[in-house]
Amino acid sequence: MGTTPTDDRHTTTAPATDDRFAVPLRGVGVDPETRCAHWDGPVDVVALRFGCCETYYPCDACHDAAADHEAEPWPRERFGEPAVLCGACGATLSAREYLGGDGEARSASGSRTQSGDDACPRCGAAFNPGCRQHRDRYFEASGPESGDGGNDL
Ligand SMILES: [Zn+2]
Ligand SMILES: [Zn+2]
Ligand SMILES: [Zn+2]
Repeated sequence: MGTTPTDDRHTTTAPATDDRFAVPLRGVGVDPETRCAHWDGPVDVVALRFGCCETYYPCDACHDAAADHEAEPWPRERFGEPAVLCGACGATLSAREYLGGDGEARSASGSRTQSGDDACPRCGAAFNPGCRQHRDRYFEASGPESGDGGNDL
């Protein structure tokens, strides 16, 4: 695969959003399928919505570059709302759909790339399974129910 430079890469910083997408989205070197300057493999076609600004970014590094505040993961009480954009088909998925239930990852044995797991339920595009390893950056982890204070906004 050659790395042919294309000029369909857009860098968008706050408060602007990339008008190629139906949802508010910005990032660094974003291509039409939401690959970015940091993650541009064939399966890096998702953008994640952040709780702080309710805007989609291809990755947290894009958020840090394009926004002027600290990233906050998508809040758990809103997991039923759209929080993931499939760059391949443009569908939005709820966090719950993307994460596959509420769940912990299944047993890691025999995790080949099979559709239905790390793939878009709408178009079948494969998603990067490695995203799960740092999903706590994007989705609020299941923590203790009772916050232990110190966070009064
Ligand atoms: Zn933000
Ligand atoms: Zn990025
Ligand atoms: Zn899709």
